[in-house]
Amino acid sequence: MSAPQPTLSPLTQPYWEALHAGQLTFQKCEECDQAWLPAREACPNCLSIHWERVPAAGTAKVVSWVVYHTAYADHLAARIPYNVAVVELDEGPRMLTSIVGCRSDALLVDARIQLKITAEDGIPLPYFVLSEVNEEVVE
Ligand SMILES: [Zn+2]
Repeated sequence: MSAPQPTLSPLTQPYWEALHAGQLTFQKCEECDQAWLPAREACPNCLSIHWERVPAAGTAKVVSWVVYHTAYADHLAARIPYNVAVVELDEGPRMLTSIVGCRSDALLVDARIQLKITAEDGIPLPYFVLSEVNEEVVE
């Protein structure tokens, strides 16, 4: 079974187009500098509708995560166990994602991670991998 397709709107389409081009973007308020994900019409801090779309550097840290051992949708069955994580971009926005390329028991709060856009069923998804800098800290 295929993964669900994103619902495109004038607000979300630029986000997905940027991911197709290899760039994660977020919105940033022109009034108060608040930065956020996912897309919304107005600033969650001051409700201004004056914002810009900004490219993310792709560096972030782990805030929290859960590990799924059951597939609640058929397209997830092949990846069990997998994690769903809250991560914080260095620019401030937090987002839900998965940290791939490692066992979930290797995750640590505040671990440094790097964006890895991965296409699934033709959809570019903003996943993350552990940064090499973490391995330097352990050694
Ligand atoms: Zn604002």
